[in-house]
Amino acid sequence: MSSLLAGCHAPVPTFAELGVLPELVGALARRDISSPLPIQAATIADALAGRDVCGKAPTGSGKTLAFSIPLAAAMRRSEPRRPRGLVLAPTRELAAQIAEELSPLLAARKMRAHPFYGGVGFGGQQQALRKGIDVAVACPGRLEDLLERGELRLDQVEVVVIDEADRMADMGFLPAVRRILDKTVNRRQTLLFSATLDGEVDVLVRNYQHDPARHEVEVDEDDLGRATHRFHAVDAAGRAALCAELIGDAGASVVFVRTKHGAERVAKQLDRVGVRAAAIHGDRSQAQRERALSAFRDGKVQALVATDVAARGIHVDDVACVIHFDLPEDPKTYVHRSGRTARAGASGTVIALVTPEMRRAAASLQRALAVEVEHVGDLAPLPAERPAGSRPRPSGRPGGARPVAEGDGRRRNRPARPPRHKAAAAASRQGPRSATRGGANSR
Ligand code: ADP
Ligand code: MG
Repeated sequence: MSSLLAGCHAPVPTFAELGVLPELVGALARRDISSPLPIQAATIADALAGRDVCGKAPTGSGKTLAFSIPLAAAMRRSEPRRPRGLVLAPTRELAAQIAEELSPLLAARKMRAHPFYGGVGFGGQQQALRKGIDVAVACPGRLEDLLERGELRLDQVEVVVIDEADRMADMGFLPAVRRILDKTVNRRQTLLFSATLDGEVDVLVRNYQHDPARHEVEVDEDDLGRATHRFHAVDAAGRAALCAELIGDAGASVVFVRTKHGAERVAKQLDRVGVRAAAIHGDRSQAQRERALSAFRDGKVQALVATDVAARGIHVDDVACVIHFDLPEDPKTYVHRSGRTARAGASGTVIALVTPEMRRAAASLQRALAVEVEHVGDLAPLPAERPAGSRPRPSGRPGGARPVAEGDGRRRNRPARPPRHKAAAAASRQGPRSATRGGANSR
């Protein structure tokens, strides 16, 4: 069985109508969650019926509760060190967040979840296991460490959730995931959620799920379209200042950069011009990451500067703006990053900073996104990149000349050419926001 939910306007059932236990409906209501999102409406009844479920849905669509509700419903009290429920997640932040979202539901049934991830000591995790937890929410690496140390066994696991399976594959965790699944009982129920279901994830579905109910929520324009998308032309040298200005306008913002080093640098640059910022990336300790996240959640810093890996699965409500300080490597990453804002029906702004040498990449990114993009400033690819024979853009626009940015990005796209249009490329600073709707050519 499968369902495809894009554009589906059937009446939304209530949680109770989906068969969710009253005490769980109550726990949800206390968090102001009263009616299921599409992926939840699609999957919960099948999961409650004990079926394996394979759910495909984009970031921010509500997958966590889609599995947390049936998981909490199915759980029985576990013996110490032998949990009956297991959730596998790719990153520490995600594991922590899932445990947090799952805990009130389990608490309504007098049970407990605990997160297990690396980068912190074993003490607290060992203690939790000895005391007894019902659901382990774990990153594969740390779980295998704990298994090796004999701290827990998986022979009583009845329900397994694999969250962000595509990310797990990207990060090279699937061999560990398979080893872990092999340690659980064969009759278990397996719920798998992912933004994509191809390649290695498909193999996992075929080998480790039994006749799964498949449900998909399409990434359609509505998902990206809740946010306003803007590509903003800027010099490499002016990016930090512009970024600070945009954060000042928008409020709480997540700023994405390509490298760990870049995250540190941009956070410092923002701090220097009066925007409080915290960096979050793979080289920071777990304690540092948690401090950064909670400072951002509490509004003590206005900007969280993050690398892609570190940001995966972070859920902070009311992120007003996502800034692609460095352009994402591909459209999929753009969608994931942008999903940090305009969550759960809220609105938000997504701004990509486009330096001259990245204009070409920006144009092809825009073509791949099924969403309207506003343009601010000159985003036409540099003359040196134009097809032979096309005329260079005239220089000397209002606002004065700006130096050509160091163009190594250009060489990534095509072999270097002599800089014969350098003068023309020394285009003006972009003028006031002359937002052109890019929708017509965005497909
Ligand atoms: P995903 O895992 O698909 O990226 P999440 O499960 O993190 O998305 O959900 C995104 C946001 O939507 C979270 O802030 C969550 O609290 C909120 N949310 C989830 N389900 C509902 C619901 N039924 N009603 C309102 N908000 C919800
Ligand atoms: Mg999720």
